Amino acid sequence: MNRDEPLARHAVTMSADQDASGSAGGATAASARRIAHLDMDAFYASVELLRRPRLRGRPIVIAGRQPKVLRIDASMRGVVTTASYEARQFGVRSAMALAEVARRCPDCLVVPVDFDEYRRLSRMFKAVIRSFTAQVEDRGIDEVYIDLSDTPGIAEGRGRVLAQRLKDAIREATGLSCSIGLAPNKLIAKIASDLEKPDGLTVIEAGDIAQRLWPLAVRKINGVGPKADERLAALGVQTIGDLARQPLALLLEHFGNRYGHWLFEAARGIDERPVVTWSEPKSRSEETTFERRLHPQRDWRQIARVIASQAESVAQGLDRRQYLAGTVGVKVRFDDFRIVTRDVGMREPNADPVMFRRAAFEALARVPMDRPLRLLGVRASALEHAAQRLRTGGETATSAQAGGAPAGAAAPKAPPPIDDLFSPGE
Ligand SMILES: [Mg+2]
Repeated sequence: MNRDEPLARHAVTMSADQDASGSAGGATAASARRIAHLDMDAFYASVELLRRPRLRGRPIVIAGRQPKVLRIDASMRGVVTTASYEARQFGVRSAMALAEVARRCPDCLVVPVDFDEYRRLSRMFKAVIRSFTAQVEDRGIDEVYIDLSDTPGIAEGRGRVLAQRLKDAIREATGLSCSIGLAPNKLIAKIASDLEKPDGLTVIEAGDIAQRLWPLAVRKINGVGPKADERLAALGVQTIGDLARQPLALLLEHFGNRYGHWLFEAARGIDERPVVTWSEPKSRSEETTFERRLHPQRDWRQIARVIASQAESVAQGLDRRQYLAGTVGVKVRFDDFRIVTRDVGMREPNADPVMFRRAAFEALARVPMDRPLRLLGVRASALEHAAQRLRTGGETATSAQAGGAPAGAAAPKAPPPIDDLFSPGE
């Protein structure tokens, strides 16, 4: 960026979609794996209490966009995003209507949602985890799976020592507590992290399954939703142990091939899913917010310079990571906060700065420039990995090999099964 540009903020974003899936973390035998599920305790509420210590000990819910903390009142609209543990003692839960909260807990305070702050703390606690190992699968803003199988220290105290060290490091860096479940796989680890919340540390090994899992309600299995729960109840299945006693044939008969098999294995604590450590990005973008309004005609040269620079920079960023884009677009925010975007499809997916600049100008020409503007951005989407394209025989009309290893060397593996693939079977 040129230094004379009146930039207030400049943002580069590579956004990914977890469901796009990625490479397998560990191909070791299930019995040898040590998988942790780490879940932050009442995350949004805990972050708010961190910076509002005077609210500690009081029941609070995170909800709404109002400018300040309010006392609950039956006329409030909206639903609870997160409830503090104090509020949960009154039966207040996530997704509960505020009017209902007012009935159950008249002293509850309503704290506005601030996702920027939650994302900031989320990045912080995940950075702590990544200082232990790179084998981390992001499962959202407040939870991750971690493959600790090869992390030094995992053998001590059945893994408790290492897990406690993780918890301590996160608390030291963020002031927040979390709960960890440590188990041979993701399925059991997820159940385990919930057993001693908040500030829990639960280790379950293969030999503990009958004793620790079977007494639990079948709903505790991530993937058994309300509908499946209802149908299992009709068969007399209440606990995971009840489920483990059902013959496979009966489960197949009632739940179909895929889900029936999955239930049969889940009850026995069998789950071979790997920890997926990366996901395919969906888009890459750059945005610049201006301190003063830019006039569409008088400031045209500056607008053109910014768009050109952003387009080139987005292309170079993709090129370095060996991605190609099928679509390039622009985003304009006017001084009345109206946002207009326009996309242009590329003839061939590429990461060529010249092509990107051309496409961005083409897109910009389609934006009705009838007001001063405050923000300009360029976004590339419909991304694909350069190696993928080589493999499928597509042409790479790009300089994709310019920065780094030969594109063919990084051919991604076939995606592993995706998490949460069981719910459609219900
Ligand atoms: Mg949580």
